[in-house]
Amino acid sequence: MCGSPPSKLLRARITAMSATEPSDPNKLPFLPFALPEIGEAEIAEVVDTLRSGWVTTGPKARRFEQDFVAFLGDPSLEAIAVNSATAGLHLALEALGIGPGDEVITTTHTFTATAEVVRYLGADVKLVDVDPATLCIDVDAFEAAITPRTKAVMPVHYAGRAADMGRIAAIARRHGLKVVEDAAHALPTTCDGQLIGTLDSDVTVFSFYANKTITTGEGGMLVTRDAAIAARAKVMRLHGINRDAFDRFTAKVPSWYYEIVAPGFKYNLTDIAAALGIHQLQRAHAFQQRRAALAARYDALLADLPLILPPQPAAGDTHAWHLYVIRLAEDAPIGRDALIEALYAAGIGCSVHYIPLHLHPYWRERYDLQAEDFPKSQHAYERMLSIPLYSRMTEADVDRVATALRQALRG
Ligand SMILES: *Cc1c(COP(=O)(O)O)cnc(C)c1O
Repeated sequence: MCGSPPSKLLRARITAMSATEPSDPNKLPFLPFALPEIGEAEIAEVVDTLRSGWVTTGPKARRFEQDFVAFLGDPSLEAIAVNSATAGLHLALEALGIGPGDEVITTTHTFTATAEVVRYLGADVKLVDVDPATLCIDVDAFEAAITPRTKAVMPVHYAGRAADMGRIAAIARRHGLKVVEDAAHALPTTCDGQLIGTLDSDVTVFSFYANKTITTGEGGMLVTRDAAIAARAKVMRLHGINRDAFDRFTAKVPSWYYEIVAPGFKYNLTDIAAALGIHQLQRAHAFQQRRAALAARYDALLADLPLILPPQPAAGDTHAWHLYVIRLAEDAPIGRDALIEALYAAGIGCSVHYIPLHLHPYWRERYDLQAEDFPKSQHAYERMLSIPLYSRMTEADVDRVATALRQALRG
């Protein structure tokens, strides 16, 4: 999964490696699966926040929101900073009025956060299979899953490559469904030349979790063009406190006065986190270019191995390259688990995105799901692994991973 610390097994392995070979000069240091790139500007901004005396939501969170709208380049958007993408997805569905009796369609091939927020609201999740090439939602399966109870669809831009938003939006419009994009992997990603976040969806939600394309440690951004959704999300982000309710009627409210209009949540982003986000956002394009260059290097180095390499973006589009996901070809000499073991033995971290939701006990049991219902996701899952891809990697790091893969696959 995206958020787990190194497994017990992995930690034991790292400890064992350093314990048995503490001073082997030829031993390369462990190459983690993911690492954030935090610079002096981020550190200085956090220190400035700490010295300012204002550490929770305040001027820096506001500036991060304004900068985010400027980044997306569309002043008709509103950006609402939250303390996770999960929070943002929850707020989005709540603002859209999703509740008991409703169904929301998403893909089985995602992180549980996409689907769990539907359950927070007492609505039901309808999981569908993925396109075998992109591992984004299978648009035909989405359309076939629509029932009179369906209220919304949540496409995931898997690995940072855009889902087929043109077709998804057209089907959603025809059936009167809301569209909430899970853009946790998609900063910056384009679809038909338009940045994700600026499309014609109801809400788009980005993640700034530690291993995402930019990070605030924990954090997220809800983006919408709909003033009513924005107003509701802002109220629900902070305990259901509404200031507009009395501002309209009373010019002079004492500063201590507030009104609670709903049982809201505690989803605000702190200024400490926003301080990181302000500078990470300025580097988002440079980070993407670096990841794209490293991905292209993998493409070249791995081309002749029995692997299925990740799909390229559509012509002219930007791929965020959050993940570099490879799949073993049918004729590969070893299995996925053995390949991950071989990489760990070579001191290289990797991960799997994702164990599909239909295999997890909660989702499987709640909806009586079978692997046979999701053949594309299941097949991909059994043969996939994500190898390291982040801006701090060097060309030598990429070469090292490629060499380890070659040794494992060619013997
Ligand atoms: C990371 C992730 C999330 C959750 O993001 P948080 O900011 O950790 O809440 C949701 N969906 C997908 C696809 C993700 O990868």
